[in-house]
Amino acid sequence: MSRYLMALDQGTTSSRALLFDAKGAVVAVRQHEFEQHFRKPGWVEHDASEIWTTQLRAARGVLEAAKASAADVVAIGITNQRETTVVFERASGAPIHPAIVWQSRQTAEICKAWRARGLESEVKRRTGLVLDPYFSASKLRFILDAVPGAQARAERGELAFGTVDTWLMYKLTKGRIHATDASNAARTMLFNIHQGDWDETLLAEFRVPRALLPELRDSSGDFGTASAEWLGRELPIAGVAGDQQAALFGQACLAPGQVKNTYGTGCFLLMNTGAEPKPSASGLLTTVAWRRDGRLVYALEGSVFVAGAALQWLRDGLGLIAQAAESEAAAQSVEDTAGVYLVPAFTGLGAPYWDERARGVLVGLTRGATRAHLLRAALEAIAYQSRDVLECFRADTGLELAALRVDGGASANNFLMQFQADLLGIPVQRPPVLEVTALGAAALAGLATGFWREQQVLEAARAQGDCFEPQMPAARRETLYADWKRAVERARGWAVS
Ligand code: ADP
Repeated sequence: MSRYLMALDQGTTSSRALLFDAKGAVVAVRQHEFEQHFRKPGWVEHDASEIWTTQLRAARGVLEAAKASAADVVAIGITNQRETTVVFERASGAPIHPAIVWQSRQTAEICKAWRARGLESEVKRRTGLVLDPYFSASKLRFILDAVPGAQARAERGELAFGTVDTWLMYKLTKGRIHATDASNAARTMLFNIHQGDWDETLLAEFRVPRALLPELRDSSGDFGTASAEWLGRELPIAGVAGDQQAALFGQACLAPGQVKNTYGTGCFLLMNTGAEPKPSASGLLTTVAWRRDGRLVYALEGSVFVAGAALQWLRDGLGLIAQAAESEAAAQSVEDTAGVYLVPAFTGLGAPYWDERARGVLVGLTRGATRAHLLRAALEAIAYQSRDVLECFRADTGLELAALRVDGGASANNFLMQFQADLLGIPVQRPPVLEVTALGAAALAGLATGFWREQQVLEAARAQGDCFEPQMPAARRETLYADWKRAVERARGWAVS
């Protein structure tokens, strides 16, 4: 009897595999880190072969850890670091270049040239994205230019492009499947989110031969079968989504207006906007949440650059704490921040400010300010910045939020979650299992194979976690937020070059 769903969670620093039982509980986890390559300043690359070998090792390991075999597994779901670009030979399956990671800025010049050709507004209109090295298109262009003969080979159909989901599927199926799902495709800057297909105009502009591209499929559906050679028995691959979209699904944000926020180094916020792509006037990204039964569901995406990283700075830069978790008790030991605001604009500010020259500031200091006030101000800054993005969601869609679902390392902080609820005036819901990204991939696979019904996904995501109800009077909340906005003004435009 098959009892489990296997999620392959291929991240930026490690490859993980998880087994979920029929109720959505984690049975076992295995994780293997792999190497980051920095050939030049600003470049970040991975060895695609190592991505595959660590992922396979994790998949084998998780079966062993659960004392299970492939016969116990119904299906595999894949979720992955997004935008990272792999180009490989169709015949041998060998990568022709290191995988260029989403963080890498090595294609800044290519993007600059595309902007100079006036492509920015076309890119935005067709793909919902901003023309930036972050997305796959310029990384693919870079590889085709960097490897001698690659353009001609691509045109002859000898090469294949893929994001990491595609690469793993190709390896798992021993080259039988060259496909991707719509959520990953939407991050390539080659995908027309309105038509739901590769964009012929942009392919021509970027000189990307269509022969390179994977086939587009539903996020929940048939992606072929993993060869018996890998796990001892053939297994269907039945769910695929990029990591943030998988988290949205794993949080069961299945209806328009539902939002999740992942609190990690930075924050990633996604709002389900339903069957309509919503253009953003605030500089947010319009993207695909998933495709099911041939129909696209869209999302708006925004991020906060420095969230948990502010705590890392207080820990490593200032030595105020030994561990991020200490900030919770410190923040709770004082009534408020005594008027102190920390704006952690260490790398500029994103939505809605979009100010590259902004830098961090600490304002409102008086002689009474203490370590506890500073730690509290850092945690509050995470909540303020999240509200800034949520205000953009509201402005762009006209949708009101009923609740915020949360995950990620810093969502363990109860003070932060309560303050977030207070600042938004809506409940903040934290699931018991914070593995929502992997759960989302497993759920997509579970639904496709009939192992799960949608009701079970909702139940798995809503199994009693914690709910933080707003307690702060509205007037106080708005005064605090207005002062945050004043603090942000002090941070803006600071760097002169
Ligand atoms: P990522 O996936 O971005 O590496 P994680 O989800 O693992 O991030 O979360 C780690 C981040 O969360 C770190 O920046 C850390 O400072 C912060 N963090 C972890 N635990 C807490 C906590 N209890 N309170 C506040 N911040 C925390």
